[in-house]
Parts: sequence; structure tokens; C-alpha cells
Amino acid sequence: WNRSDFSWSAELKETMVSVYRMRSLRPMQLETMNLTMSNKDCILIMPTGGGKSLCFQLPALISKGITLVVSPLVSLMEDQVIALRDYNVDASMLNAACDKETVKRVQDAMIDKKATLKLLYVTPEKLAKSKRFMARLEKMYQLGRFSRLVIDEVHCCSQWGHDFRPDYKFLGIMKRQFPEVPILGLTATATLKVLDDVKKILNIPNCYLFRASFNRPNLYYEVRPKPSSQADTMNDMKQLIHSKFRDQSGIVYCLTRKDSEEVTTALQQRGVKAGCYHADLSARERSRVHRDWLQNKILVVVATVAFGMGIDKPDVRFVIHHSLSKSMENLYQESGRAGRDEGRSHCIVYYKFADVFRLSTMVFTEQTGQENLYGIVRYCTDIKRCRRSVIARHFGEVWDKSQCNNMCDHCDAHCSEKRDVTRHCQNVMKILDLAKSTEQRLTALKLLETWMGKGVQTLRIKGAEAPSIAREKLERIIAHMLLEGYIEESFHFTPYSTISYLVPGSKAQLLSSSIGTVSMDFPSKQNST
Ligand code: ADP
Repeated sequence: WNRSDFSWSAELKETMVSVYRMRSLRPMQLETMNLTMSNKDCILIMPTGGGKSLCFQLPALISKGITLVVSPLVSLMEDQVIALRDYNVDASMLNAACDKETVKRVQDAMIDKKATLKLLYVTPEKLAKSKRFMARLEKMYQLGRFSRLVIDEVHCCSQWGHDFRPDYKFLGIMKRQFPEVPILGLTATATLKVLDDVKKILNIPNCYLFRASFNRPNLYYEVRPKPSSQADTMNDMKQLIHSKFRDQSGIVYCLTRKDSEEVTTALQQRGVKAGCYHADLSARERSRVHRDWLQNKILVVVATVAFGMGIDKPDVRFVIHHSLSKSMENLYQESGRAGRDEGRSHCIVYYKFADVFRLSTMVFTEQTGQENLYGIVRYCTDIKRCRRSVIARHFGEVWDKSQCNNMCDHCDAHCSEKRDVTRHCQNVMKILDLAKSTEQRLTALKLLETWMGKGVQTLRIKGAEAPSIAREKLERIIAHMLLEGYIEESFHFTPYSTISYLVPGSKAQLLSSSIGTVSMDFPSKQNST
């Protein structure tokens, strides 16, 4: 959809300047506004911080009637309503916490032609559970006052996404109930599978899709090897924070609540002003940590993913992942909280082989868990490709490597070489074979140890042991075999992941019969074996 002039173009521009004091629109904003002003359905995919709100707020201001905005979090709604009122825009919200008076005032305004209410924010629960509210919407529609339905975080409809909310499914009836009302869905999640699902659920199969670039040129992406001991990891992190990010604001994401507490303590003991944030803390404690951080009384928030949506501090200079995230999507969202002010900021992941299996076990029950997890393992273990290009490809974007401007560890300083690892892979298969024939189940770590010539005697095979090769290299090879489908994790009979090798006719069989070869990239500074 285009940027040419429409009957509303002049008013749109005028409102942008007079109300928002903005000088120009960002890529995709005008296209989205023109489309929704033409009463067409649309989903806008734009990274966090890209400016999605303006895309429905400006049209709301110049349209007759009311724009209904469905938003998953009360705190997000509050922030937006407060910001809108600062601009002198009449906006309200309805959620479980509203008093009777507010509810009455809002419900009156919905059907009062003289009312100035322009934007009404509601939770999906309100729509799904309040028949009275739906009846009022019906009336608003009959009166021609329902100008647009905006669904924020629209990926919450789909259980393939990373943030499924059951009440979002209910939104499927809106198109049937209010066929004339254009729907505008907003999200920063962009996998095709999720988007297809969302279109189906909302009954808008032919809606337009707009995609703004996911490239954040000011973010520097880096993966660091995570030392095997927690103390060494924390020393490394402290060193990083004290040298590179001295006196700067940042976030450290951890896998579990327990991890986040331990990391907070470890950082505090090492002289870093850090606070902890996770869902088990009281609301009061959480908001205290958030506030202290906003006011720079503490510099680092160590958190689980509960510290997420609605975090809007502009000068976050670093986001460190103490362990992998569950998916590329999570990683992108979480690290995207850095550098909203466009200043240079760092996104660092500490990667360790063992963490993959901790996560594997955690995501086992989630349908898409493992596929998503391997996506991020690929990001971490790839030793050659521009990190940005991996992200871009994940989000379906065409990418030219030169666009990175050396803003990732690989483009910044890179040299690698390809090595043939067929012999190593065959040795892994031999160990797995022996394990299978003696009915033993190996976790990845046990497999690794056996390979290194440690652990269970009965599994050791002369000539298949590799005690002199760096552990990191062996880990890389096992990760490569997993990602490429030579071996797989399974969860049969055990609550944790064990490694087995694959079905007849698989790549693995070719390999064990010496037909196939495997080669992979290694950093060239690593010792050759
Ligand atoms: P998102 O919802 O996509 O995460 P927001 O709508 O919160 O992003 O916008 C992020 C920031 O960008 C806000 O501070 C907003 O005021 C600002 N912004 C959005 N559009 C423009 C624009 N065209 N010009 C300048 N600033 C903008």
C-alpha cells in the first residue's frame, strides 16, 4: 500500500505535527495508516521500539467514532493512556480494576455521538467474558461509532508464538460480529507459521501484511563462550560490566528464578549495583526494582523473561543473556530492549553446550519448543555467518551482509576454516551404538564424557575416544550433529533429554557405513587435532 495522497493525508500530517510534534514518519507507518484509513484489514510486523502505536493513534484521532484497542497487559494500557492524555487526547481503558463510575462513564461515551472519546483500551478478557460490554459494542457499531479494531501483540492469538493467551482466541468472532470494522493487528513476531495462524484465528485470510525491517543498526551482537563454572562466568560478566559498560544501564536475562537470584547475588558480591526481578517477587518489590533502575539507582536488572513487555527505558546500553533464550524470537525481543534511543548498545549471549539440554528439558512440553530452541543454538554455534544475517533470515528478510557494518562479533573480526569431522562423527555413532546394544541411555553430557575417555568403563571403545581434543570442540561437533539431524534428543522413559541416533536410511546410517562425510566450520585459532 502506497504513500500517495488521499483525502485524509493533509489532516494526518497536520495532526502528527500539532499533537505529537513529530516531523516525519518512519518506514511503514504511512503505508499502514493509509491502509487502515481505507478500511482494510492489516497486520503490521515491526520490531519493538519501531513505532507501532502511532500507526493506530493518528488514524484514531482523525476518524469519526472510537478505536477499540485490545492489549494484553494492564500496565501497557496504563502507559499508553497516560501518554495520550499528556497529548490532550481523550483516551480511556476498561479492565477488571476499573471502578463502577469509570465503567459507566466509558460505556456512556461509547454510544454518545457528542462524546470526545477517541481511543478505548480493553483487555481480551473484557471482550471474552463481559456480555454487557459486547452488547454495548454492538450498539456502538449500529451507531456507526466503531471505527477500528486494533489488536496489540496480535501473535498472542497463536499457540505457535512465544506468548499465547487463551482469551485472544475469542477475538475470532469480532470479524463476524462487526464485518465493517477494519482490523489492525500489531506485533513484533514475524514467523510465517504464527502469522498464518493469526490470520485464520481472526478470520482475516486476505489481510495485508506489512513488515518493517528487523535490522537494528545500533545493536552489536555477540556470543561469548560461557565458562564451565558459575564463578568464572560471573567473573567474566563482572569484568565486562565494569570495563565496557561502566556506569551504564543494562539487563541480564536468566533462565530461571533461582538463576536470577544467584546471578544477582554474585554480581552484588562483585561490586555491581544490581537488582533482581522475577514473577515470584511481590508486585511491590518488582515495581521498586523497576523504578530504581529507571532512576539509575541500580544499574543492572537481573531478571527472568517476566521483565518484558512494556519496558521502555531508552538508554539501556547492554542486554546480556546469562543462558540461551528459548528461541530466536525471544532472543530478538529481549535483546531488542537495548538501545531504544538509537545509541550503540550490546547484545551478548553466554553460550554453553550444557545449557542447551537444560532448556531442552524445559521446553519439552511446549509443542514448538525444540525446533525453536535449535534455531537459537544455530545462531550461537555458527562460527562464520554474520549474526545479523541469521536474525534477518529467521524473520524472513532478504539480507546483504555488508549492511552489518561490522556490528557483530563475526563481521568485526573474523576468520574460520572448514574441517572434515567425519571420523569424529563416526566415533560418536559407535558409542551410541554400544549404548543402544547394552540398553543404556546417554544424556549429552554423559556421551561427551564417554567420548573424552571418562565415565562408564563399559561404554568406552578403543580408538573412539578423544581425550586429547578440547572439550569445546567436541561439544561443537555434538551440537552440529544434533542440528543437522544425525542424532536426536529423546525424552522416552526419562524426565530429561537423552541422545539417540536415528532411524534406518537416515544420514547417520550413511555415515556409519562410510558413505557420507561431514565437515563444519571452526574458528581457526582453535588447535587443530
Ligand atoms: P512499539 O510499540 O513499536 O514498540 P512505540 O509505538 O512505543 O513502539 O514507539 C517507540 C518510540 O518511538 C516512542 O517513543 C514514539 O514516540 C517514537 N516514535 C514513533 N514514531 C515516531 C516518528 N515518526 N518520529 C519520531 N518518533 C517516533
